[in-house]
Amino acid sequence: MDDLSLLSDFSLFLKEKKSEGYKIVAYLAHDNIPEELLDAAGFFPLRMIFGGNDDLMDASHDYLPPSTCAFAQSCIGLFSTKPNLFKFLELVDYFIVSNHCVSDVCVSEIISRYFNISRLNFYVPYTKNESSLKYFKLELLDLKNKLEGIIGAEITNERLLESINKYNQFKKVLLEVNELEILGSEKLKVIHRAMLYGPEFQPDLDKFVQYVKENPSPISETSKDILFTGCSIFINDNMVDLIEEGGGNIVFFDTWIGNHYYSQIINDNSINMEKDPLDLLVLKFKNNVYGDHSVPNFLEHKISQIENYYQDYSKTKGKKLGVINHIIKFCDHISLMSSFLKDRLQEKGIQVLNLERDYSRANRGQLSTRIEAYLEMMK
Ligand code: SF4
Repeated sequence: MDDLSLLSDFSLFLKEKKSEGYKIVAYLAHDNIPEELLDAAGFFPLRMIFGGNDDLMDASHDYLPPSTCAFAQSCIGLFSTKPNLFKFLELVDYFIVSNHCVSDVCVSEIISRYFNISRLNFYVPYTKNESSLKYFKLELLDLKNKLEGIIGAEITNERLLESINKYNQFKKVLLEVNELEILGSEKLKVIHRAMLYGPEFQPDLDKFVQYVKENPSPISETSKDILFTGCSIFINDNMVDLIEEGGGNIVFFDTWIGNHYYSQIINDNSINMEKDPLDLLVLKFKNNVYGDHSVPNFLEHKISQIENYYQDYSKTKGKKLGVINHIIKFCDHISLMSSFLKDRLQEKGIQVLNLERDYSRANRGQLSTRIEAYLEMMK
């Protein structure tokens, strides 16, 4: 299934949700938004995981300067132009204003204010210590109270626990998808679909995993395996095709739409022992040590995570692994640390390509050349 069919199917699905009485709450694509709480309140969480193009970026310049990250520009462009395949954005009832980064705050505020979508705030601390965990819980409580005010009913502990379990199981299956030996583009399609539809897609995911296990289709021995880190490849973005056309294959997505998401599983023992389900969400935030939002030590964690994966991969597969660090233009979070990440990994013998781009069509040739040159060097 291509991205166009995915978007048109999803549009029908969302209309149906709306007609069943669900409120749609949208937010940008990063970590730490408590979708379990939204789900428990009977909202449908819609993560903005859509890539951009020239038109969408241009359309955002009435609101923000072109030096804003290309993903953020495109999100504004989607709301201001609502292209045919994205008419479903008209169904959004609430937008979460959160602070993953400066662009996240600005874009969410602009979308809420200029496109008349009610705003819900959820601020996430930048540090991980006792005080910040307490603050995170206060934010959860505040959001819970707001949601309860909207629905006019209490979100019970039982209901929240049910949602936590549901998302946990969903992520466990996504982790299995992550392990499958299939082309990166096929894997990404399934991940995109799963993250749009959420846990309702789990039965299809289960079938997909089962099917691939029963019908393995080996990947070419000559393809160059890639760990893809940095910014995500969103829906409607051709980055994965450029890598495959150059002879590469992404075997691990170390991104928001990838391992960052599905590695955040809450341990079953904690679920059984914890009395207050909000504390489970605090625990999930505390354990999210690879996300690029919170400091300190995030970069050290990321370097050791990539190094461990690299060593393990080389040992078990007997193949070299390349690392592409994808930087969406003007994404400060990823670009600021890119040289450091590259230097540290290269000191350990891991070759890294820092690949910066925006969504303009004119870039395609240059991106292909850089990817091909990097893959060639991996021989
Ligand atoms: S700057 Fe980076 S982290 Fe922030 S919205 Fe843009 S892509 Fe996401």
